[in-house]
Amino acid sequence: MNMPKKPSKPVKKKQNKTTRTLMADLHMHTARSGDSDISAWNIIEQARAKNLDVVGVTDHNTTKGALETRQLAAKEFPGLIVLIGQEVRTNSGEIIVFGLNTDLPKNRPLVETCKKAKGLGGFIIVPHPFDKIRQGIGSKIIRVLPYIDAIEVLNSKSLWKRFNKRARDFAEARRLPMVAGSDAHIPQYIGSCHTFIEVGKIKPTEKDIYKAIKAGNTAVSGNVVGLRGAGIRARLIKFKRKITGKPKQVK
Ligand SMILES: [Zn+2]
Repeated sequence: MNMPKKPSKPVKKKQNKTTRTLMADLHMHTARSGDSDISAWNIIEQARAKNLDVVGVTDHNTTKGALETRQLAAKEFPGLIVLIGQEVRTNSGEIIVFGLNTDLPKNRPLVETCKKAKGLGGFIIVPHPFDKIRQGIGSKIIRVLPYIDAIEVLNSKSLWKRFNKRARDFAEARRLPMVAGSDAHIPQYIGSCHTFIEVGKIKPTEKDIYKAIKAGNTAVSGNVVGLRGAGIRARLIKFKRKITGKPKQVK
């Protein structure tokens, strides 16, 4: 599948008897992250409104939000494929791990976390690798290349274009699979970035999707929303919770 030169170039979804192009947002946070006010319901609503086929729910250090979203989608939007993800903080930055139902320990060394994730059968995406403001793993990416399945080359919340550009240049130079994600912490920004994934089946399984990404059958597009998507409101909610001592609610 040809990659568009510019991330903003729209990609048409196609479907024939043997292949299908899925529109995915592979990076978003629910209230289970503690810094987002997105509920499982919001994800269903936004996915339906924005014609998404796949959502990757990637809460900070927990799969709870993803599992809740999958459960709700099974009842309310059975056509939606919910990938179980977690954005794990290591002591050198963050990685996204898909395909595990258990939570990986946080604040462990980067290589150790990658090895553990792979040992359990996880699929690893490096989010915003060169975003220095937001826990990118930076040049340490070299150390974990053997464990990485794809690189996020377009993150909707990156404040400076050069962060995404560097990720894209890095992935292109090494011919590594590329994906995009909104990193939404507010419902309306779900789907602000897309990964188009070409799969060889009309009804793909989760494994078919990982296989297609790994094979590089992806294209990325979307908008960078920067600070608007930074979830200032969500952070205020978190702060309010902290001072009022109210437990967080998942709608
Ligand atoms: Zn994130």
